[in-house]
Amino acid sequence: MSDCIFCKMVNGEIQPDVVYEDDQVLAFRDLNPQAPTHVLVIPKRHLSTTNDFQPEDAALAGRLILAAKKVAEIEGLDQRGYRMVLNCNAEAGQAVFHVHLHVLGGRAMKWPPG
Ligand code: 5GP
Ligand code: ZN
Repeated sequence: MSDCIFCKMVNGEIQPDVVYEDDQVLAFRDLNPQAPTHVLVIPKRHLSTTNDFQPEDAALAGRLILAAKKVAEIEGLDQRGYRMVLNCNAEAGQAVFHVHLHVLGGRAMKWPPG
């Protein structure tokens, strides 16, 4: 998707602050962090929302969680605790329409989220 900002990060047009990368996912720091650690984990393949995941994408969906776990380890949050958030569509607050898993940590989290 040529007009997608996260695809531009995947193809190197924009250089994000990368925390972790493998063949299928990219993890980089959020521009407007909501916690001391705020990293976005994205699939390298463009999917607009989680509604686009198909049964054959199960492994990719799992890779996002495994990458988030890796980010938590890198950031020293795996034992302290961290939160994963996936916003889907307007009412959930999705602003960028390339699937991204937020990894937040480094401060106490409230529940329920606002
Ligand atoms: P959403 O509300 O769609 O779940 O989250 C979008 C996230 O992307 C926001 O936390 C926002 O700060 C982040 N974001 C938007 N544009 C950029 C950008 O150009 N670079 C980075 N690193 N993060 C971005
Ligand atoms: Zn994209």
